[in-house]
Amino acid sequence: YSLFLGVFLLFGNFAQAQLNSTAHDQEIESLINKMTIEEKVGQMTQITLDVITKGDDIYSSYEPFELDQDSLNKALIDHHIGSVLNTANNRALTPQKWYSLISQIQETALKDRLEIPVIYGVDMIHGATYTVGATMFPQQIGQAATRNRDLVKKGAEITAYETRASSISWNFSPVLDLGMDPRFPRIWESFGEDPYLISELGVEMIDGYEGENNDLSNPEHVASSLKHFLGYHAATSGKDRTPSYIPTSALREYHLPSFKAAVEAGAHTIMINSGIINGIPVHANKNLLTGLLKEELNFKGLVVTDWADIENLHRRDRIAKDNKEAVMMAINAGIDMSMVPYKYEVFYNSLVELVKEGKVKEERIDDAVRRILRVKFALNLFEHPTTNPKDYPDFGSKDFENAAYNTAAESITLLKNEENILPLKKNAKILVTGPNANNMRTLNGAWTYSWQGEKTPEYAQDYNTILEALQQKGKKKNVTYVPGVSYKMDGKYYEQAPDQLEKAVLEAKKADVVILCLGENTYTEKPGDLNDLYLNGHQVELAQKVAATGTPVILVLNEGRPRIISKIEPKMKAVVQTYLPGNFGGDALADILFGEVNPSGKLPYTYPRYPNATIGYIHKPSEEQKKAEGVYNYEADYNPQYRFGDGLSYTTFKYSDLKINTTEIGAGEKLQVSVKVTNTGDRKGKEVVELYTSDLYASKITPDVKRLRRFTKIELAPGASKTLDFTISTDDLKYADQNGKSILEAGEFKIMIKDLEESFFVKED
Ligand code: BGC
Repeated sequence: YSLFLGVFLLFGNFAQAQLNSTAHDQEIESLINKMTIEEKVGQMTQITLDVITKGDDIYSSYEPFELDQDSLNKALIDHHIGSVLNTANNRALTPQKWYSLISQIQETALKDRLEIPVIYGVDMIHGATYTVGATMFPQQIGQAATRNRDLVKKGAEITAYETRASSISWNFSPVLDLGMDPRFPRIWESFGEDPYLISELGVEMIDGYEGENNDLSNPEHVASSLKHFLGYHAATSGKDRTPSYIPTSALREYHLPSFKAAVEAGAHTIMINSGIINGIPVHANKNLLTGLLKEELNFKGLVVTDWADIENLHRRDRIAKDNKEAVMMAINAGIDMSMVPYKYEVFYNSLVELVKEGKVKEERIDDAVRRILRVKFALNLFEHPTTNPKDYPDFGSKDFENAAYNTAAESITLLKNEENILPLKKNAKILVTGPNANNMRTLNGAWTYSWQGEKTPEYAQDYNTILEALQQKGKKKNVTYVPGVSYKMDGKYYEQAPDQLEKAVLEAKKADVVILCLGENTYTEKPGDLNDLYLNGHQVELAQKVAATGTPVILVLNEGRPRIISKIEPKMKAVVQTYLPGNFGGDALADILFGEVNPSGKLPYTYPRYPNATIGYIHKPSEEQKKAEGVYNYEADYNPQYRFGDGLSYTTFKYSDLKINTTEIGAGEKLQVSVKVTNTGDRKGKEVVELYTSDLYASKITPDVKRLRRFTKIELAPGASKTLDFTISTDDLKYADQNGKSILEAGEFKIMIKDLEESFFVKED
């Protein structure tokens, strides 16, 4: 038996086996046997914090913030509610405040008959973002630019630690959506546009949150939540929560791999896409939730809705004639827990009735409760319903801050550097201008200290803005600041003092160089929807005016998505993308601009040149075709401002000796690839080596131009070389046909690393 088990653990899906673990099975089953329908439905209900708080304190300040014991009793005892989450209006609390709040919630929950602790969920998406004093990392899009697996994992470990230091054990992270559409207001929450990159970094993040063995009994780990399953970000309009049309082949080939990898990595929970795919709201789609997720991927964890999305099946999507029918559809489709703001009684009463009427089978709610209890037992919440900040002495430590700084430094991406204007000379006279120059809020992005990030300035005063960092690292008297353009507090609009542009021009004339900090204010979800991807007109005007002075301009971008800059880019001497680099982004940028740090970030998305040309690097038809004579020139289709993977260094790297061990492989065989990389410049530098493959002809579906299959990041001293080895299997060469079936076809393929390439063949079976 143990031999059999060993073999299963080795070759089976180890991580989901862990989730499937027998450790608490008996306790869970005996608990379920004791539970009434009401108690089961209560476990499946997740309420928001604002239904159990006093008055509207939560909107104003955290200090007088208090729970309302009567509302708590009503929810947790009368309705046996199993979970609570942060609300959109929440702001950051101190670890101590979190501890007393969660303690009060748990003490109330444990007064209910079966003494089942609550699981509290929160969006701590780039550090413990709702805790005062926690360490803020770059947002996921910046983490993707590092291409550094270790940094991503370390960031998640620290986030988990600081989240548990806040007594919270469930994190609604990572985002595994395909960040494919530059218009979408949440692209910055993703790891960018490539399915392989997302899968690789997603797994690192889960390992960081849950530990490599997904051992949640370790009080430094949190349960992760993969989101948003499946096909979020693909909205036809580019706007949040609007319909998308995704062919089965694309769903399987591009959107699914990251979730599949994460399920295999043992993630404990998953959140569902709020949108509609091919006319069907995902929350009502049994084929996706039960067929694909729970059966085909064998996901054993807990499936939670997104915000109010059961009610949305009725109110917004009009697929259910009333709330009760919506509940029936969602639960029967495979939802285990309803994230239900405000009127939780509607969900609760409807589901109790539906079970009693036989419209939702009791086995279905038993399955849901089993999945919920599994996570609660795994987290050891029955024994330790809270964790105490005093047991987390490293909270906010220097080591943690260094990790956040390093991640920011490796994320920042140098996109243009004409005549090597960068690095700057120490004694250069600098004008710093633009709405993002002296702004902690825009460095962090949304979901930081509050939903839209607007509370950031109150909490991030100890950290340096770009301006402050430049003043510290350069010579203070040499740094002049004129805002030029400013954001209004509400974030969406721009106000401008009339003399600001003139002032900026005047100072630009006196300076040796202008650091022009442009981009976006913070936003997420619907408030971030756009009608125009061009960079805001006031900012474009500022750029044109300072560039017209003839003083060289370095454009620093601080933005959640690639706003189009083609009108001003040719006038810029250098362009640096910072994404949303977190509390240490200003310091990291200043060190890069002054040459203390050699940049190594690579774009995780395609930076479009025009609003009507937003295709990603994974596109059809093939490069071969576009070169053919007499064929329409498809080059125009992929001629972005910057390409996926772009990013310069202050040194140079040469690629040579691309070798493959065979020119022919059969199904199941492996191809060994090696390449030599040499640092040909005079500075130490880090380089991301990317391996792509290309399928020349595919009979069912026009093949993608190329696909990223492997990447690694190395550091080389000047003159040093390294030979890197990669292994490609025939699984890497498969594609999903029109029915979503993964197939391998015989024929010619190419391996491409930088500008080197080698051909090989897959043999007929
Ligand atoms: C977002 C999710 C988030 C949830 C809970 C929703 O509106 O779409 O990403 O986890 O709110 O805050």
